[in-house]
Amino acid sequence: MSFQPPKGTDDIIAPESLLWRELLRSWDVWAERYGYPLVMTPLFEATDLFERGVGDETEVVSKQMYTFSDKGGRSLTLRPEGTAGVVRAFLDSGVKGAWKGSYSGPMFRYERPQAGRRRQFWQVGVEYLDAEGFAADAEVIELGFRFLGAVGVPGLQVLLNSLGDETCRPDYVELLRSYLDERRDKLCEDSTAAIGTNPLRVLDCKVCAPLLVDAPAMKDHLCRPCADHYGGVKSSLNRLEIPYVEDGRLVRGLDYYTRTAFEYIATDLEAAQNAVGGGGRYDGLAETIGGRRAPGVGFALGVDRIVLASNQQPETMIDVYVVSESGPADALVAASRLRQDGLRVALDTESRSVKAQFKEAARSNAPAVLVVSGDTGAVDIRLGEERAEVDIAEVSEWLEAHL
Ligand code: AMP
Repeated sequence: MSFQPPKGTDDIIAPESLLWRELLRSWDVWAERYGYPLVMTPLFEATDLFERGVGDETEVVSKQMYTFSDKGGRSLTLRPEGTAGVVRAFLDSGVKGAWKGSYSGPMFRYERPQAGRRRQFWQVGVEYLDAEGFAADAEVIELGFRFLGAVGVPGLQVLLNSLGDETCRPDYVELLRSYLDERRDKLCEDSTAAIGTNPLRVLDCKVCAPLLVDAPAMKDHLCRPCADHYGGVKSSLNRLEIPYVEDGRLVRGLDYYTRTAFEYIATDLEAAQNAVGGGGRYDGLAETIGGRRAPGVGFALGVDRIVLASNQQPETMIDVYVVSESGPADALVAASRLRQDGLRVALDTESRSVKAQFKEAARSNAPAVLVVSGDTGAVDIRLGEERAEVDIAEVSEWLEAHL
């Protein structure tokens, strides 16, 4: 038996886990600023939800799902993404009218693992439902942009496109299909197969990209309402001073998008892992999964990639290291006292030498070291160059004044 996590999954331990915790805390703060309370849905759902919602021709559904039968014979799937589950939960709740929810948790896709591409990965995201106006899209895009900026993603760029709707997309798809048909013998095998079933998918193909530079773009063939919506999103982003680049070939890997589609790119990272998040509008999704009409917009950000991109140092985890000259029992009692006063405290429980304890204290990065000797109330505090003898009951007050 080998003790390793399954392929494509990771153990995240300190100090890296501290970065994750900081990031996830910061996510909660930003989500709440924009009015998105937490929504928690199951890690697995009926397989049908993803087949219908995400689309059974997408790579995610056709190749990457972890699907299994439970003991009652139901076909279930570990969620490969968050939107379908949240929209299902919203419809189930019976709530009507503008509704917002934010989520945070692991997603599962059977991918070829590499840096920033895992089989279990963490996404944070938001969904804004029963919201149709362009301002909703702009607000959602802004939230992701501000959050990614605040956590230090370097070279952040927003890519933007419109995918039209059921009125204008069919004509455009035919236009694209005939463009692709003329180049059929130069396209890769997957793209050739997609011409008949889902020509939009070809726009996403990295191999065929050089052949598609002058392919017709959906954003140039929008019907009036879609063009107005797209114009509204762009002018709002301009007014919010969010830089974006229009990308007529941005289609995203999930079939449910209508109108706005966007991606956040960390341009300083390698191309294979520089997409730190993406999203868009999905006005037809609720009906596709069997509910009423509920237009919506949202995004998902990849936390694994944000951690890779943001290159931040974890904050120190403790405030005080207790060194004891008289054994661990005295250190334990002093530490307990400080912990009950709200301080974060570490100590040596293994009766190591005083010298070894000081070494450990330095390694811990604790700003303050407390030296105890016996069970007297007076302790010796060292904080940088400063030293003081203080009663144990007054340590937390003293540190508050000096830290
Ligand atoms: P998607 O749900 O495909 O729209 O992806 C949204 C974001 O999630 C991407 O931009 C990535 O940052 C992240 N992501 C998607 N798939 C993976 C994966 N297999 N491993 C790590 N991050 C991922």
